[in-house]
Amino acid sequence: MSQNYDLIVIGEGISGLTCAGSAARSGLRVATFESTLFGGLVLNVNELDGYPGAESGTDLASGLMQSNSDAGVTSIQEEVTTIRPAGGAFEVATAGGTHGARQVVIASGARLKKLGVPGEKEYEGRGVSWCADCDAPMFQNEDVVVVGGGDSAMQEALVLANFCRSVRVAHRGEKLRAQKHLAERASANPRISIMWKSTVEAILGGKMVEKVRIRDARGNAEETACAGVFAYIGLEPNAGFAPSGIGRDGRGYLVTNDSFETAMNGIWAIGGVRAGYSGLLRDAAIEAKRVAEVIGKRLAND
Ligand code: NAP
Repeated sequence: MSQNYDLIVIGEGISGLTCAGSAARSGLRVATFESTLFGGLVLNVNELDGYPGAESGTDLASGLMQSNSDAGVTSIQEEVTTIRPAGGAFEVATAGGTHGARQVVIASGARLKKLGVPGEKEYEGRGVSWCADCDAPMFQNEDVVVVGGGDSAMQEALVLANFCRSVRVAHRGEKLRAQKHLAERASANPRISIMWKSTVEAILGGKMVEKVRIRDARGNAEETACAGVFAYIGLEPNAGFAPSGIGRDGRGYLVTNDSFETAMNGIWAIGGVRAGYSGLLRDAAIEAKRVAEVIGKRLAND
């Protein structure tokens, strides 16, 4: 066993960082684990409203990392592979070793779903992108295709329209799922057009993306020239490492009670990995602080 902690938080997104910081400031010995870059999905947000002192998602996440470090949180860049109950506590395993924890918070969030079509993986970074906020300036005066009909697809189409010559949205449905204000802004933008009942079947090109094959409403396949493809077709939870007995909903999100504790006593789930999470950053921070407080009280009484 490498180290023992009062609390291990899995995931350094906004939920995990907030929870870990609150717990450490209340005197607990805390470690966070992250398999990729700290920050999570908020890194895709370039303009953040309502967070004085943090203009972007990167600013917000960096600030939290710094304050956690000041509060004594240990940040470990390793992917968690399993969590195992062990004598009233838990063993959290990574490729690098096993760490003990009295309580575990799963805050591993969700990831963008892949289209799963030919060319998607091959052209990643060569025209296929998952971050319009980061990559839109590289598509100045180009034609791009966005896939999806939800808030993310509309929001990112609007970002792309600031740079691109045209943004064609391929949506499989006949009606947008996005909130009215986003749908209206996208529909009114002269650079954005929506292809209804259309699905992207393949991403094609040479060295870089050159076109997509789209199956249209009448069942015909047509090739649309474009330099970029941005798919926003929803999210799926990062919860493959969680124990089988933890309780998941039909889409794999972790189920908790009103206090955010899972069916396994001592394992909690907050933020994007949790069934019923609102998707709002504000709520991620609220539930993270609440869980840190409840865990602090529970451990004080142990
Ligand atoms: P979402 O709401 O689940 O929408 C996914 C869209 O992709 C739907 O239009 C869906 O079509 C389509 N889709 C799903 N699977 C597909 C497939 N295999 N091929 C083609 N299309 C597919 O996902 P999201 O837009 O990423 O939003 C996720 C959450 O974040 C939501 O709660 C959203 O409100 C929130 N969010 C909020 C904001 C904001 O408030 N500004 C911004 C971004 C996200 P159907 O409609 O036909 O099912």
